[in-house]
Amino acid sequence: MGIREEIEKLRKEKNAVILAHNYQPPEIQDLAGITGDSLELAIKAKEATEDIIVFCGVEFMAETAKILNPGKKVIMPVKDAGCPLADQLTPEMIREARKKHPGAAVVVYVNSSAECKAEADVACTSANAAGVVRSLTETEIIFGPDSNLGSWVQEQVPEKKIIPVPPDGHCPVHAVFEISDAEEAKKKEYCIVCHPECEKKIRDASDFVASTGGMLKIAHEADKWAVFTEKDMAYRLKKEFPDKEFRHYEKSVCIDMKKITPQILRDSLKSEEYEVIIDEDIMNRARGAIERMIKIRG
Ligand code: SF4
Repeated sequence: MGIREEIEKLRKEKNAVILAHNYQPPEIQDLAGITGDSLELAIKAKEATEDIIVFCGVEFMAETAKILNPGKKVIMPVKDAGCPLADQLTPEMIREARKKHPGAAVVVYVNSSAECKAEADVACTSANAAGVVRSLTETEIIFGPDSNLGSWVQEQVPEKKIIPVPPDGHCPVHAVFEISDAEEAKKKEYCIVCHPECEKKIRDASDFVASTGGMLKIAHEADKWAVFTEKDMAYRLKKEFPDKEFRHYEKSVCIDMKKITPQILRDSLKSEEYEVIIDEDIMNRARGAIERMIKIRG
């Protein structure tokens, strides 16, 4: 029996659903029942009726699935798949910022720990961040941990004042793009789409700024794309739009997303490891922020 059949057999026996983020390696995207961005996967996790949710992604995503569907067993095939961006925000930093700005609302990017979400008023993803901020009654918005997403939201929603916490939080995978990449892509007549986690100079040099889910929605607009986000998003785009060209950049790689292999996925289905366990109180407090985000959707 090949590994694909083995995984499918185990998945059925265990009554599991396999969710994979758009940055997962191609072979994992192909094995998953559902692929998507953070918002799409959070919604799928909430709606899942299976006994087990196997989350192929990084820790904050699996935590979000557990928080939204606490009655299910959520497993992460790789225990130490973290997110260096999420690590840049702590609950203490949020509490400090609240003290300094008592009238402000707190919006945390879903790329943050469950403990940080427990301190927030509402969460957001890159797909709905501007909509979430626009929907709030408060004028001052404490926003973390991604300062690039924060500055992009500020441009979309000028009537609000974004206070980035920390002031310089960023994703290292999206910080690799240079103006020269944009210049070269333009010369070769690529249409450029970048993720809002990219720096302002890169966003300004791009034709579109979009979340990974948003990239799939606008892909019909051009035939040749330069995709300024994690390299394996191009695989997902090519799968959905086989007649188009999607240029990816090998230097933009999220190492934590690549720790998984089909063998590791199979073994995690067998052993049901590693189960996501979150403190009950944290989970209950974080749920409010995530559910408010899902209601708004953006
Ligand atoms: S691409 Fe960046 S934000 Fe996304 S999981 Fe990797 S390190 Fe975190």
